Amino acid sequence: MDRQTNETGAAAPVLALRGLKVSFATEDGTLEAVKGLDLDIARGETFAVVGESGSGKSQTMMAVMGLLAGNGRASGSAAYRGAELIGLSPAALNRFRGAKIAMIFQEPMTSLDPLYTIGRQIDEVIAAHRRLGRKARRARILELLTLVGIPDPARRIDAYPHELSGGQRQRAMIAMALANEPDLLIADEPTTALDVTVQAQILALIADLRQRLGMAVILITHDLSLVSRYADRVAVMRRGEVVETGEAARVFAAPRHDYTRMLLAAEP
Ligand code: ADP
Ligand code: MG
Repeated sequence: MDRQTNETGAAAPVLALRGLKVSFATEDGTLEAVKGLDLDIARGETFAVVGESGSGKSQTMMAVMGLLAGNGRASGSAAYRGAELIGLSPAALNRFRGAKIAMIFQEPMTSLDPLYTIGRQIDEVIAAHRRLGRKARRARILELLTLVGIPDPARRIDAYPHELSGGQRQRAMIAMALANEPDLLIADEPTTALDVTVQAQILALIADLRQRLGMAVILITHDLSLVSRYADRVAVMRRGEVVETGEAARVFAAPRHDYTRMLLAAEP
C-alpha cells in the first residue's frame, strides 16, 4: 500500500495548505508575509521548505500551529488529515498541537524552561494529552530520552536544561516533540545554532526517527545541502510565495525557476 493511502483507500495528505495567507498589522499598514500557499505534505515524507530569510517559511508554520503573534492573522486553509486548523479556538487546536503535530525550533529559541528538569517538562506534555499514571509516564520519558540518544537517561531525566549541552538540549526538545507520537514533525531551522558535527548528528537522528516512527517531517532550512541529503521533496519560497516545488533531486538537477537557480549558484 502506498504510504499516501490510508485504511479507507482515500489519499489524504497529512497536511494540505490551500490559499494560506498570513498578514501582520504594522505601523505602516498591512504586511503580507505569506501570499496564498498551496502545498500537500504526504504521510511519512520529508518535505523541505527553503528560501532566504524573511520569505515567510516560519510564519507559514506558525499559522498552521496557531502560534502567530498578536498582530498576525491567517486566512485560507490548512488541513491536518482533512481537519481544518485555521480559525480553531486555542482549546480545539490543542487537540492537534503537541499531539498529532509537533514543532521544534532553533536552539536557543526552543521552549525548554530553565526552571524545570527536562523530565518534568516532557512529563507535562505527556500528561496534557494522555491519561497515564505517574509510573507509566516516567517509563515513557525514559523510553523517549533513550530514543533520542541522550546518554544515561535515568540520571538525565532529573537534569536542568543548563546541565545539558546544546545538542543534548535539542535532543530533549525532540523527545518532547515526540512524546505523543505525532505524525507530523515541523522542524524550523532545528540545527542552525549548533556546531557542524552536532548538526549532522541531530539531522541524522531526525531522519532515523522519521523512518522508525513513520511520521512526516517538514524541514525548514536555508541550507540547501541539507535538502539534497534529507528531503524527498522541496518547496522554494520567495517573498511569501512558493516559486518552485518538486522532487528534491529534480529541483537540484534541473531547477525551473530563476530564483532557485540563483540559490543553487550561491551555494558554496
Ligand atoms: P523566514 O522564516 O522565511 O525567515 P518569517 O516567516 O519569519 O521568514 O517572516 C516573514 C515576514 O513576516 C518577514 O518579513 C517578517 O519580518 C514578518 N513578520 C514576522 N513576524 C511579524 C510580526 N509579528 N509583525 C510584523 N511582521 C512580522
Ligand atoms: Mg524562519
